[in-house]
Amino acid sequence: MERVFNFSAGPSMLPLPVLEKAASEMLCYGSSGMSVAEMSHRSPDFEPIIQKAEADLRLLMNVPDDYAVLFLQGGASTQFAAVPLNLMPEGGKADYVVSGQFSGKAYKEALKYGDAAEIASSKADNFVYIPFVGRKDLREGTSYLHICFNNTIYGTKYNYIPDTGNVPLVADMSSCILSEPVDVTKFGVIYAGAQKNMAPAGMTLVIVRKDLLGRARPVTPTMLDWKTLADNGSMYNTPPCYTIYMAGLVYEWLLSIGGLEAMKKINEEKAALLYGYLDSQDYYIAPVRKEFRSMMNVTFVTGDADLDKKFAAAATLEGLKNLKGHRSVGGMRASIYNAMPREGVEKLIGFMKKFAAENPKA
Ligand SMILES: *Cc1c(COP(=O)(O)O)cnc(C)c1O
Repeated sequence: MERVFNFSAGPSMLPLPVLEKAASEMLCYGSSGMSVAEMSHRSPDFEPIIQKAEADLRLLMNVPDDYAVLFLQGGASTQFAAVPLNLMPEGGKADYVVSGQFSGKAYKEALKYGDAAEIASSKADNFVYIPFVGRKDLREGTSYLHICFNNTIYGTKYNYIPDTGNVPLVADMSSCILSEPVDVTKFGVIYAGAQKNMAPAGMTLVIVRKDLLGRARPVTPTMLDWKTLADNGSMYNTPPCYTIYMAGLVYEWLLSIGGLEAMKKINEEKAALLYGYLDSQDYYIAPVRKEFRSMMNVTFVTGDADLDKKFAAAATLEGLKNLKGHRSVGGMRASIYNAMPREGVEKLIGFMKKFAAENPKA
């Protein structure tokens, strides 16, 4: 069986050299005589793996020393609760921008813990844009502003970083992490599930400014208290060892191709090819406002639900998999994360042209 181009939104493609390296080390890692999948997290073989992963991530993202880097379990969705528990005191407030489904879920979760407010939303326009917010939109006494930097389901991305003054900015970057450089210093907290652009499922990255540690409410579950996790080097309990190892291989791969500036260039080229084609024809419609287009998740529809269905099925037969849009929005979505080669995007465009020619609209 030949490998396909997998356009899944997550879990998603991993770079081929990473899979090859993992395969070559699967039975025996270095001189350990065992697989990383079999290793104690407290063993001298594993310690350098997690340490190098953290060091490489810090290098890639230029993470300053006054930020802690955590490799956790629970997925991004667990951080929807961890964020308010760590940052919003009892009786406190937190502000949310709802720009899609995940930010909506994060907001709902925060409502359980206090006075969370949706200060802006693009819901009335089907989330085709990102609302603009700044300091003046924040409520007096708010503990933080939460945003979702790239909206995986709708295919939108922030084209600016909200200026929140002294209020910590918290960003869910699950689907754009490592796709391009970001200025970490503009954020109080960045978190991301690994399975979109970083590693297999099972790990969540949290980057948190150290002065924000130690504020968790007393009722916060120990496993959600960032300070406890930071004080224990992400090893308060067993961390997702194998996924951390795989993430480490991805970081090494990114460094080997020239880091996030180089990755950004490649991603821009791939996205420009696909959006360029979408803009050049009128068979497919790309609903997102141009200035908020995601470089990672490209959404489009034919305008006919039956044709959309046919499209995804026919694409699968050509080795172009998982192009069906999210179950809540329909249409198509091509997730073109770091590991999607340019060749996959070119093949997709070729298929789109052929499908349009062979399936005229009524
Ligand atoms: C996938 C995704 C999530 C959910 O991640 P889990 O790791 O499954 O909890 C949250 N936010 C964004 C932006 C996502 O893309």
